[in-house]
Amino acid sequence: MAEHESLEFGKADFVLLDNVSMEEFMANLKLRFEKGRIYTYIGEVVVSVNPYRAMNIYGRDTVEQYKGRELYERPPHLFAIADAAYKAMKRRNKDTCIVISGESGAGKTEASKYIMQYIAAITNPNQRAEVERVKNMLLKSNCVLEAFGNAKTNRNDNSSRFGKYMDINFDFKGDPIGGHISNYLLEKVKMRRREEPPMKWRVAIRCIMKAKSCFTAEHLLKMSSYCADNSLSTSCINDGADFKAVADAMKVIGFTGDEIQTVYKILAAILHLGNLTFGVDGDVTLIENTKLVSVLRELLSTKEENVEKALLYRTVATGRDVIEKQHTEQEASYGRDALAKAMYERLFCWIVGRINDIIEVKNYDARVHGKNTVIGVLDIYGFEIFQNNSFEQFCINYCNEKLQQLFIQLVLKQEQEEYQREGIPWKHIDYFNNQIIVDLVEQQHKGIFSVLDEACMNVGKVTDEVFLQGLNGKLAKHAHYTSRKLSPTDKNLEFDRDFRIRHYAGDVVYSVVGFIDKNKDTLFQDFKRLLYNSSNTVLKAMWPEGKLSITEVTKRPLTAATLFKNSMISLVENLACKEPYYVRCIKPNDVKSPLLFEIERCRHQVEYLGLLENVRVRRAGFAYRQTYPRFLQRYKMISEFTWPNHDLPSDREAVKKLMQGCGFDHDAAYGKTKVFIRTPRTLFSLEEQRAEMV
Ligand code: ADP
Ligand code: MG
Repeated sequence: MAEHESLEFGKADFVLLDNVSMEEFMANLKLRFEKGRIYTYIGEVVVSVNPYRAMNIYGRDTVEQYKGRELYERPPHLFAIADAAYKAMKRRNKDTCIVISGESGAGKTEASKYIMQYIAAITNPNQRAEVERVKNMLLKSNCVLEAFGNAKTNRNDNSSRFGKYMDINFDFKGDPIGGHISNYLLEKVKMRRREEPPMKWRVAIRCIMKAKSCFTAEHLLKMSSYCADNSLSTSCINDGADFKAVADAMKVIGFTGDEIQTVYKILAAILHLGNLTFGVDGDVTLIENTKLVSVLRELLSTKEENVEKALLYRTVATGRDVIEKQHTEQEASYGRDALAKAMYERLFCWIVGRINDIIEVKNYDARVHGKNTVIGVLDIYGFEIFQNNSFEQFCINYCNEKLQQLFIQLVLKQEQEEYQREGIPWKHIDYFNNQIIVDLVEQQHKGIFSVLDEACMNVGKVTDEVFLQGLNGKLAKHAHYTSRKLSPTDKNLEFDRDFRIRHYAGDVVYSVVGFIDKNKDTLFQDFKRLLYNSSNTVLKAMWPEGKLSITEVTKRPLTAATLFKNSMISLVENLACKEPYYVRCIKPNDVKSPLLFEIERCRHQVEYLGLLENVRVRRAGFAYRQTYPRFLQRYKMISEFTWPNHDLPSDREAVKKLMQGCGFDHDAAYGKTKVFIRTPRTLFSLEEQRAEMV
């Protein structure tokens, strides 16, 4: 019996469940996990459960087993999806994308790496040097991005703190010729915990630095000998090898020596900033550890008095006058944290930009070489629902609403179009359309983001409470919005601070605390000018807006919400013109155990990923379709009418005869060029019969 149909391992496709219920879904998922089958399909969607152990299923031999095969010919695997996306791109000239989602630690980044690895393995059979160079570049860029964008968190030792979308461009032969990376919502907020004592904050920064393949404080100090604060080197760990790998990767990609040095210096400066403390003497705010100022000056190639001034004062224009206003101790700390955070973000975006300059497709003439096609890989956090949900979760969950909307549109639209083309009657599929929730968040004037931006621009009080009042005023009647009145007995709270959204994946309560601050994302202009005036040209280039003097700064910078919304809209536009493939990742437990399948924990994820809905939609349509000649090529041996050749007037007739002969006719529809099969069970039976013959 073909392995993927053997009941011992559960059902290889959730579409085969006898009943589409949560219980059956979970039982199947658990069984497969326990049997070491970490992948299961929902039609063409791969559901993956993090095995938390090395699996011997990504080697060269496995690659060979999946190369050029159809999805159902082999047990479910990431490689099958990667191959499907690649085939669509190569055979049909389609741009495709692979959307990988799931919560932190569910295995998204690993999956995206295996997919890239697979594509690298099956392309460039002729070993063209230029293609090899590009492939190497693409793989190396991943290593650099991970080093700077990942952190060790308690949920994941190597957690990506950013969403990543990577386009890989292919030439007419199907070989990679370049790429482009976009990053989303770098989670810099985690670095700055104003509500916690500074020590904790420093630990957070250090965590980022200490991440598996990241620069440790020690490396930075040793390397650039800007040693100033001994307390930092107490946290040294042995990542010498990782550090070298990243340094080498940067060189290979083509970062110049100056650029690499600047990167180190900025990282060191961020670390040192974390150690900077303020005090007060009378009504004067001052820096307590002044020797750090000279370290910063050196790292940032600026003048010492400028560093000090930017940390302690802000320039404000009042009418035509320009005055310097001293920070309070609190404002100074806020400014310091905002600076560290902004430097980290700028650095990261700059690195992405530099990588893009280098890997972008050059000298490709479509008139000569034909269309250059693309496979996009999106590695982005899935729904997040914590005990306390804040601005970050709100953004991430909005992103998932957008992706769900895209999924609905693409899958249903695609289906409908194909049925029309093939002359097969369209059957209405009932599903929940989440456009209403997308609108709730992003609509002009009325949406939550608009209300937030308005609250930030308020002339009078700008507080989270004002924002919440704005929401309650505008959205009280919305079917997916409720304000949550807290019990009046809770004396710790000065005001109601929560609102609830009914997301497609479930209800989430968000606390408004911090929304305003995170949305404004203020960095005093003085810092921008400080860095722009650096004599280090690499650093200077990261801060072009520092060029403006205080009187020239008229426009408010776009808010974090607006920037995120715009980037989501362009992401979705980009994905919408591609043929999508999906990988849904699930994290089986919170203790990184290869043995534990925590059923409640997983059930939540299945809910948030909308997997049951997915199975229902899939079952409503046809699970499989194939052109007549290819279908015959694979299955003609199972029927006397078609083996070794048929004498029917057309391949279409031959397939019909074959299906009738096997008793599958009731489960099939015959289009103009393709046969459509409703349930995967039929397909697996075909596979089995084939396996018996060959
Ligand atoms: P995410 O990107 O979803 O936050 P990762 O891809 O970083 O999660 O995975 C977290 C950890 O889980 C990895 O560092 C690795 O130890 C383990 N892991 C994930 N996927 C696999 C896999 N396919 N095989 C073995 N281990 C895995
Ligand atoms: Mg990740």
